[in-house]
Amino acid sequence: MGGQKHDVVQFPHILQDNVMLKGSCLCGAITFTADGTARDPVACHCTQCRKQSGHYWAAVQVMDHALNVTGAPTWYAASDKAKRGFCPACGSFLFWKGVGDPSTGIALGALDGPTGLHLERHIFTADKGDYYDITDTVPQQEQQT
Ligand SMILES: [Zn+2]
Ligand SMILES: [Zn+2]
Repeated sequence: MGGQKHDVVQFPHILQDNVMLKGSCLCGAITFTADGTARDPVACHCTQCRKQSGHYWAAVQVMDHALNVTGAPTWYAASDKAKRGFCPACGSFLFWKGVGDPSTGIALGALDGPTGLHLERHIFTADKGDYYDITDTVPQQEQQT
């Protein structure tokens, strides 16, 4: 891990190779698997993720060609930069898809464990709610990058 220096914070975007991730929404109407490489597990504290999830939202990026989805998520574009996929029956917020991005963020909370993953960053912490503190040692970024 190395020492902790507040002036030099690096975000290695660790690649988790050869993962086999499997998950579903709460009601089971939508299931998915992803294999290959999972990267950059983050917890997002932005206002949009907080509104949609009810708290903050954690996801990991997988390549689209490695992601297989069964069922039909409903997609909602909260901005012109990305759309968000959720189950129309139970409301589980499952996917985040940036425009033009060859990968998709899949909800860590929807995965059936063990995942073998660990959060690398808290992002958009400037937008976090005032009703909780982030007390772990995972690096924090006020904005995404
Ligand atoms: Zn569902
Ligand atoms: Zn967010």
